[in-house]
Amino acid sequence: MNDIQMVDLGRQLAAIRTEIDAALGEVLTSTHFIKGAPVANFESALARYLGGAHALGVGNGTDALQIALMALDIRPGDEIVTSAFTFIATAEAAALLGAIPVFADIDPDTFTLDPASVEALITPRTRAIVPVHLFGQPADMDPILDIARRHNLYVIEDNAQAIGARYRGRAAGYLGDIGTLSFFPSKNLGAYGDGGAILTDDDALHERARMIANHGSRRKYYNEAVGVNSRLDTLQAAILSVKLRHLDTYTQARQEAAARYDALFADATAVVTPHRAADRTHVFHQYTLRIRPDGYRNRDTLAQHLKGAGIPFAIYYPTPLHRLPVFAEDGRARWTDLPHTERAGEEVISLPMHTELTLEQQDFIARHVLAFLHDAPLPSRKTLTASP
Ligand SMILES: *Cc1c(COP(=O)(O)O)cnc(C)c1O
Repeated sequence: MNDIQMVDLGRQLAAIRTEIDAALGEVLTSTHFIKGAPVANFESALARYLGGAHALGVGNGTDALQIALMALDIRPGDEIVTSAFTFIATAEAAALLGAIPVFADIDPDTFTLDPASVEALITPRTRAIVPVHLFGQPADMDPILDIARRHNLYVIEDNAQAIGARYRGRAAGYLGDIGTLSFFPSKNLGAYGDGGAILTDDDALHERARMIANHGSRRKYYNEAVGVNSRLDTLQAAILSVKLRHLDTYTQARQEAAARYDALFADATAVVTPHRAADRTHVFHQYTLRIRPDGYRNRDTLAQHLKGAGIPFAIYYPTPLHRLPVFAEDGRARWTDLPHTERAGEEVISLPMHTELTLEQQDFIARHVLAFLHDAPLPSRKTLTASP
């Protein structure tokens, strides 16, 4: 059996174990388990790292989306234009508030919102656009921001998968009105439990989000609005501060692993490797192939084959949101034709991607993929070792 994992948190932790133990020890000794300096320090380090004005720690990435929508006063019946090719949380947060997710199609190359598809869905009820920076690459933000400006809409970036990515030189998460992050353990900046953050350059929005996340109060026992209890845990903040110091190295490791996969699949015709838009950086939360179906050989049979060979993989996302029972059956969402979304759901497969991935492991994975697809022979090891 191989020792390849989809995400190898154990090896990553081993390399920073002393730093993590020290950070946890400090919190335990302080017995200050809610908020406190570790949370405030992490929030300012995060904002500084991304070059934004504010970052607010919250309980998880789903809460971050909900609080962002609440801070923008999104109400029942309001329409939110977003992608159906994403994790449920993106649309769930809007639906929970009684708003209507309206699904636009994706750009087939980047898997992110297609601005042309967004514009066609805008009605007088539309209040916000929620692009998702899927798999680690930002959506095409300038046309989206332009549509928002022209129609007087808010933009919330679901940046759970693309911390540190840039669009035309600007950090994802600070391009719209509010950006959200998730620190779910497998995310690029992962905690050892749940965590999330709300990013904004707007002082008033930051204050409002902070108030909502704290039971709708700025002062203790003086509640101004219906809020929620959503905090970034102090132990998690201490862990995240350590890991933030390594994030550049982690991102680079992911990008190098992606370049190695690209080289391994360079001559293959049945697989489409991840497209990088020229005006963006890609931080490779996932390395996602598109498998061109060819009779018996397609994404699903490849998945079966990898399963049989004990090679980890994942399908993000097998069912687009508009096809899920939660949205398909009760008029809680609206959409028109989504051909690129449907097709992506049938053709994508994500291979192991993490900071500890080795060339040997990737070579093993790629050999299995290409052997099943009867595709091009692999380039020699020598060429691969020479590549970045
Ligand atoms: C992970 C993720 C979320 C939710 O984050 P949690 O911290 O798990 O609540 C939201 N949107 C996207 C695109 C995600 O990948």
